[in-house]
Amino acid sequence: MSSVRRRIIVTGGAGFLGSHLCERLIGGGADVLCVDNYFTGRKENVASLLPLPQFEAMRHDITHPLFVEVDEIYNLACPASPIHYQFDPVQTTKTSVIGAINMLGLAKRLKARIFQASTSEVYGDPNLHPQPESYRGNVNPIGPRACYDEGKRCAETLFFDYFRQHQLKIRVARIFNTYGPRMHPNDGRVVSNFIVQALRGAPITLYGDGTQTRAFCYVDDLVDGFVKLMAAPDTITGPINLGNPVETSIVELAGLVIELTGSRSKIVPRSLPVDDPVQRCPDITEAERILG
Ligand code: NAD
Ligand code: UDP
Repeated sequence: MSSVRRRIIVTGGAGFLGSHLCERLIGGGADVLCVDNYFTGRKENVASLLPLPQFEAMRHDITHPLFVEVDEIYNLACPASPIHYQFDPVQTTKTSVIGAINMLGLAKRLKARIFQASTSEVYGDPNLHPQPESYRGNVNPIGPRACYDEGKRCAETLFFDYFRQHQLKIRVARIFNTYGPRMHPNDGRVVSNFIVQALRGAPITLYGDGTQTRAFCYVDDLVDGFVKLMAAPDTITGPINLGNPVETSIVELAGLVIELTGSRSKIVPRSLPVDDPVQRCPDITEAERILG
């Protein structure tokens, strides 16, 4: 029997951001197909959704073609933490590039709207602050972060070529650092690392001198941005920055986590990873203007 409910795929739907998005879409009355290979995602993240008839989980790697029938695609599949995307860098590039080709091909056949979870990493180690969408970035194409940064840049290229060549309805969001419930305790990203270390009374691992900056967005606010961007008119393709425009140094973050948890943990210095961006903060003028 045909249904009038929107059918939506979320690739990477069992991951941190993906699981929140699946919940939001189901809450909004859609049917959701979560597609994930469980590299960094977990079934526990979607456990509360599994009994629902509106939700379906499929184990699938998006580097392989997928034939399903849907109305919208959110492409989030890709490990996002440096330790995970550098674990198998070739697979990371394949996921970004071949995965994008497969999902764009699916969108083309179905004439479906497609959203790409791009990243602030397309700006590399930026020399313009804050970063507007027009900034073309400063990425090292041969460093250890390149599998992710260049993979995501190439995915953006593919999205805009499918837009120009096949008139696809695309939405590209450049996501800045986001945190919230369901980050894996071993995820390796700074907010979860510091909180887990503080709660365990373990040393807080500060990479470099901690003067490098990031701007941290809460997951619910980010997911609002995803849904609003997807609902925007088809003339709004992005790329559009989504994130919190308040910049914090990593050493300040460490102090804040210690204070809020009342932890006795001490900050211990560790070497700064290669190509770690010195300063990062989104210019969200466009998101404010277009998405409110
Ligand atoms: P995550 O690691 O929790 O989620 C990624 C999900 O993709 C996982 O469930 C993983 O198993 C799945 N996956 C990886 N490779 C796959 C493949 N080949 N086929 C199918 N599934 C695959 O990370 P996240 O923080 O939820 O990030 C989601 C997306 O948002 C990623 O594309 C990431 O690049 C982007 N992003 C996130 C942030 C952030 O701060 N969280 C910032 C910028 C961009
Ligand atoms: N970082 C840190 N200690 C940690 C993990 C990360 O000092 O235990 C630093 C890292 O060097 C970077 C910042 O925190 O400068 C954000 O790192 P994360 O991996 O969360 O995200 P990304 O570098 O991709 O923005």
